[in-house]
Amino acid sequence: MIVGMAPRALLACPDCDLLQREPEPADRTVVTCARCGSVLYRDTPDTVDRTLAFALGASVLFIVANAFPIVGMTIEGRSNTVSLPGALVALWHQDMQLVAGLVGLTTLLAPGLVLAALLYLVLPLHFGRQPPGVPLILRTLDSIQPWGLVEVFMLGLLVSLVKLEMYAKVVPGVALWAFGALLLVFTAMAAAFDPRSLWARIGTARSGAGR
Ligand SMILES: [Zn+2]
Repeated sequence: MIVGMAPRALLACPDCDLLQREPEPADRTVVTCARCGSVLYRDTPDTVDRTLAFALGASVLFIVANAFPIVGMTIEGRSNTVSLPGALVALWHQDMQLVAGLVGLTTLLAPGLVLAALLYLVLPLHFGRQPPGVPLILRTLDSIQPWGLVEVFMLGLLVSLVKLEMYAKVVPGVALWAFGALLLVFTAMAAAFDPRSLWARIGTARSGAGR
């Protein structure tokens, strides 16, 4: 296999700056620095399947969390229980555009996009196919990553609940529990996702296709 014969890449140790060659791929390895022993990277060959499992679970929770009522609001004199997207629309119409926009970005748009991007990557790879535009998707995910996906999501949710409490009563129902579970699954998904192992999988998917 040509992929295996390519010269190994050079890695710099984040702690002592020692340059060293990447070792041959093994089944499951933690690669440590030859000099100081700090972890250079971990190889997780099952990253595709584990990311896929968590992403599917997170998608279901994401839909449930946003479909069920999360707050009780009084809109135009009538009290109502509304979902988070519904509450954001109500906030928007009450001249709270900045809060509605920020909460929408951190609790709806960002996690929704990340879920869609991950599913787009790992679902075809699970079946041995390579989706088009992988470098673009990985670069996009990489640019979102510094935000600290889970932290931003958690912060956005907290801010929205605190803000909403000023106008509405938070309903401790299905949606709230789904959001809590979503945070856990999202954390697990972010931990399972390893771009390095994904690249390796893409290499074998490409040579396996014989194109
Ligand atoms: Zn070192």
